Amino acid sequence: MTDRIDCVVIGAGVVGLAVARACARAGLETLALEAESAVGTATSARNSEVIHAGLYYPRGSLKARLCVQGRQALYDYCASHGIAHRRCGKLIVATRDEQTDALRRIGAAAETNGVHDLRWLDAGQARTREPALRCVAALESPSTGIIDSHGLMLALRGDLESAGGLLALRSPVLSGRVLRDGILLRVGGDEPMELIARHVANCAGLHAQAVAATIDGLPSASIPPGRYAKGNYYALSGKAPFSRLIYPVPEPGGLGVHLTLDLDGQARFGPDVEWIDALDYTVDPARADGFYTAIRRYWPDLRDGALRPGYAGIRPKLAVPAGQDADFVIQDARAHGVPGLVNLYGIESPGLTACLAIAGEVMRRLEAP
Ligand SMILES: Cc1cc2nc3c(=O)[nH]c(=O)nc-3n(C[C@H](O)[C@H](O)[C@H](O)COP(=O)(O)OP(=O)(O)OC[C@H]3O[C@@H](n4cnc5c(N)ncnc54)[C@H](O)[C@@H]3O)c2cc1C
Repeated sequence: MTDRIDCVVIGAGVVGLAVARACARAGLETLALEAESAVGTATSARNSEVIHAGLYYPRGSLKARLCVQGRQALYDYCASHGIAHRRCGKLIVATRDEQTDALRRIGAAAETNGVHDLRWLDAGQARTREPALRCVAALESPSTGIIDSHGLMLALRGDLESAGGLLALRSPVLSGRVLRDGILLRVGGDEPMELIARHVANCAGLHAQAVAATIDGLPSASIPPGRYAKGNYYALSGKAPFSRLIYPVPEPGGLGVHLTLDLDGQARFGPDVEWIDALDYTVDPARADGFYTAIRRYWPDLRDGALRPGYAGIRPKLAVPAGQDADFVIQDARAHGVPGLVNLYGIESPGLTACLAIAGEVMRRLEAP
């Protein structure tokens, strides 16, 4: 006997949990299926934990809209659920005169995205805020912050379960088939099962394309090719002389080797951009050389030997022509022809910041004819 259910969410990272929570709270009987033995062990556990303001993304993109909406929703959610976070602010710094145009473009993009609180700082004003910093100019973003991402995921899971939703761990989705009245999913793990769901949200992160490819009846041409861009982090031994996050002007594929702080004030640098063919989270100590060079452009006093390999995360990139940045892809029946199915691809940064707004977007798309 195959069980029937309103809604299955595949993957319990921060996005899958936010989507499952929204579905359950909308009154749908909801089950989140997670392959691993705990929630949020993949990309959601391997990021900078920054609440982004929404500065960089092209006007009208999903990233721009969902980041700005999601940031405010996330601060409200942190306040109402007691999730540790800090609105510490960040400085984006130009270290050479030629970079000030890039800073101005970021400021203009931020304005069109609805971020109106940026301040332009000259070198002296920047040093007053952060005396160890060397730059020729900076943009200050007061609404950027940091968050305990595990606390967030625990709260989302708690809301999902309070709304009557279920979470099944060690339950990898193995394949699917489009039926006339739903989507049949075959689930492996300790208790293999088959389910027919009216709605399915594929939030499998780095594996979203692989999961989609197993769904018989989903046109394979609708699945955008993906690539992996690893981001390596190095931890700073000792205390950092900064109280805000410090970002250089962005580089292709990422935001540049920036300094982020955790909620205890411990600093880490990264992530860089390393294109890889297979998932691999080891951090090569030899890459530290490039970090010293990049960091000393804005913090010349960084001591030799102060960096040690930290951790790595992997960005689920979409393959786009060189020099372009892909947007989030949230595909519903209008894109692939399967009613009730929503596939999420390329949910890289700012996916953590935007998770609540992404969940709202997915809810609307699940109803698409
Ligand atoms: C280096 C780096 C730094 C980042 N920094 C930031 C930041 O500072 N701020 C920010 O807003 N965003 C940041 N991001 C982006 C953010 O981390 C992601 O957008 C977000 O975590 C994605 O969550 P997710 O739930 O989509 O994916 P994931 O966390 O990867 O979750 C997917 C889940 O699906 C499960 N799964 C996979 N296949 C199956 C299957 N067949 N069946 C069942 N389950 C399956 C996996 O086990 C996993 O738990 C960063 C990303 C990276 C890589």
